[in-house]
Amino acid sequence: MDCNFKTQAALSKTGLIRHGEEKVPKAIYSIWWDDNLGPSVGRSYPEMDSLTSEEALIIFMGHGVNREAEIGYSKLPRGLAISYMKPPNCIAILLDQEDNASAIERNLLRLVKYIDFNSDKWDTELQRAFELLHELIDETSGAGLLTNPGVKKLVEDMLEKRVSVITPKHVLRASVRYPDAYDYFGTDDDEVVRILKDLEEEDILVSRTYGRRVECRQCGESDLIVELLCPRCDSNDIHKVYTLFCPKCSNQFHAVLMDDIAEVTCLSCKQPVKVSELAILDVEPLCNHCGTASNDPRIVFRCASCGKHLRGADLLAGTGLAYYQK
Ligand SMILES: [Zn+2]
Ligand SMILES: [Zn+2]
Ligand SMILES: [Zn+2]
Repeated sequence: MDCNFKTQAALSKTGLIRHGEEKVPKAIYSIWWDDNLGPSVGRSYPEMDSLTSEEALIIFMGHGVNREAEIGYSKLPRGLAISYMKPPNCIAILLDQEDNASAIERNLLRLVKYIDFNSDKWDTELQRAFELLHELIDETSGAGLLTNPGVKKLVEDMLEKRVSVITPKHVLRASVRYPDAYDYFGTDDDEVVRILKDLEEEDILVSRTYGRRVECRQCGESDLIVELLCPRCDSNDIHKVYTLFCPKCSNQFHAVLMDDIAEVTCLSCKQPVKVSELAILDVEPLCNHCGTASNDPRIVFRCASCGKHLRGADLLAGTGLAYYQK
């Protein structure tokens, strides 16, 4: 059988290829924070149904009192709005009832990289953004997703059993970011750091110490993983007993969550619950070695690259850098 045909068939079965009309958001808005007026609606596209100032305020509040959350959700009488905050600017998307909110959120995050927040032609900027959003949605859903060569290869590799699972690595990123520089160099953190170093090399900027950063003294990396050890015998053979909330019967129950399970059965109502829908209320680590149950296990940081047990010097010896005009 033709590989491509098999891939199509596999995707059809998963519902990844939908037939019929594509679902799209209804409108996009740009909103500004004005220190005197509060949130004021900048532009809308399509233009006919712009937001009221009350709606703009609701959207701003969706980002927290200090506008600290990057993504906000707000329920307006006309529908759900998902917004992206980059103070003082905010971009909001009004969803259609049928829209998949989490897919729109992912595409909004993709979209904002292409929006020029300093544009002096917001009419055209916003129209361009709305069209680009549609392109992004087409590319990342339904048949469009399959035209991505990487997606095609992954589905084929899984069909041919060359790859059986995509596993996560749970890494804490002690990453360095310079949000002040986003307006100039974009939001790719690694690229921003490279440009700042270029500028220092060219004697335009000079760096000075600023705080401490995590840096493994063995390999220089800043990513870390957390490990729990028994506080009594230092064993890392620890079971975690979870207190879970069942969304089906609203009762609590205990379970040990092993790897590689897709659902657990609620002990109260005996119904299966998807692990992605479980709410975890509490966790109690239980040592398999000495039997100690403790809510206060020993926490150890390891370097995510080389596995070194990170001590205080690794966690605090790296030098953070701030950049000044030379
Ligand atoms: Zn239940
Ligand atoms: Zn123990
Ligand atoms: Zn390391």
